[in-house]
Amino acid sequence: MATDVYVSATLRMFAGHEPLLQAEGASVGEVLKSVAGEHEDIRRILFTDEGVLRDFVRVFVNDTEIRGLHGTETPVAPGDTVYLIPAVAGGAPAKNTPLIPAERSGAVEFTDRDLERYSGHFLLKEAGVKGQKRIRAARVLIAGLGPLGVETATVLASAGIGTLGLWDHRKTELPDLKNLIAFTERDLKRPRTAVIKDRIRNICRETAVSVFDYEVTSDNVQETVTGYDLVIDCTDNFKSRYLVNDACFFAGVPYVFASLYQTEGRVTVFKNDRSTQTPCLRCLFPAPPERNLVPTCSQTGIFSGVPSIIGGYAACEALKLITGAGRTLDGKLLSVDALNLTSHIFHVDRNCSCALCGETPTVRSVQAVDYDDFCNLREPDNTPPVESITVEELLRRIENHEPLTLVDVREPHERAVHRFRQAIPIPIGQLARRKGELNPAVDTIFLCKEGKRSILAINTLREASYTGPMYNLKGGLDAAKDMVFSNEAGWL
Ligand SMILES: [Zn+2]
Repeated sequence: MATDVYVSATLRMFAGHEPLLQAEGASVGEVLKSVAGEHEDIRRILFTDEGVLRDFVRVFVNDTEIRGLHGTETPVAPGDTVYLIPAVAGGAPAKNTPLIPAERSGAVEFTDRDLERYSGHFLLKEAGVKGQKRIRAARVLIAGLGPLGVETATVLASAGIGTLGLWDHRKTELPDLKNLIAFTERDLKRPRTAVIKDRIRNICRETAVSVFDYEVTSDNVQETVTGYDLVIDCTDNFKSRYLVNDACFFAGVPYVFASLYQTEGRVTVFKNDRSTQTPCLRCLFPAPPERNLVPTCSQTGIFSGVPSIIGGYAACEALKLITGAGRTLDGKLLSVDALNLTSHIFHVDRNCSCALCGETPTVRSVQAVDYDDFCNLREPDNTPPVESITVEELLRRIENHEPLTLVDVREPHERAVHRFRQAIPIPIGQLARRKGELNPAVDTIFLCKEGKRSILAINTLREASYTGPMYNLKGGLDAAKDMVFSNEAGWL
């Protein structure tokens, strides 16, 4: 009898865009081999060349990760579901002890106006006056002010949080207006931190705001997180996530992890309380994916509304940690698929051999780790650089009728925005399999939205032993937008 295999949104492009597959097999290993056999593109994502399951993919049978069972030998029975959950960006819960001790919250005094304003919380036994005082006394740092961070900051300010740290180095750009709730045309080119600081001032004058307008690095992360009661990680890259995780662990600061990919989001809580043996990010995902193996959310888009769902969960977890209300996601990973209206909670165990929190740790401080190297951000010395050509050069060659092949590696739906009519559409997940459609005797130029996936495309074909000359369209179609009207011959 076939087993259901749930494919996370991050991996769906390599499996026919289906969230739920059916595969035969009596064990997890057999089921995964069956999936890889049916969907050739996903094989290289799931497995190394040696056939070993990659570290950045976690496999669960129902709600239990296979590392806590029998690994790939774990048997599967009719009715079981195997879940494939990669890194993209919490056992039986104990009673949730409030992060903010009574000594601190007891010093908070409310005005009559406060009593009216927060009356909705006072009605809830999960918050009450004591909980609201804890919220007012709390200091929370939000790392990353993308769609998730903006949503989370807004909810926490509305709830009357005492101190908010806002950490992001970016300015507001036009595409941000789609994703950053309540950002306006007037906010363009302003630092995101300044925009949100202004907004928080209008929401709650009692919330003190600190702004950190610099990138997350190993030189600043430890100092920045120290002094906060809680950190919420809404960053959008693996280097920042592992830096925040490691710094919070060393500082003993709990943190909420929230991530997005297209229509899917994940939330978990890492308490960093060494007495409770709870896991850290490195227990869940010991390593990020290899360089350019899977696209990021900025390269693939985010469905409106999903950041509000996931940001809402992240803010709610923060408020529960602060007040001690309910049960939190420590030791659990919540995965929400808004497109298919499904959600799952997976158990996450502490890994005794974790490089950070395990019994023989190898990560001793954030200064001692080369995060660029760990996150595969450096070009390997033995990889020849990818050659690029500019849009102008491409248009000149098209107008001169020079022999070349143009390959558009975006997904089919993305080509509705704009495209080169000469380009052969081959989604990146199919490239290795369809390399026979290319002509190694002429130059092949790869294009995508930003010129990043096309580099991945070239490296994918190199690994697949394609030997023809390959070039990346520098800056992708984004760089060509201004030439739509002057070179319409090249466009749809
Ligand atoms: Zn760990």
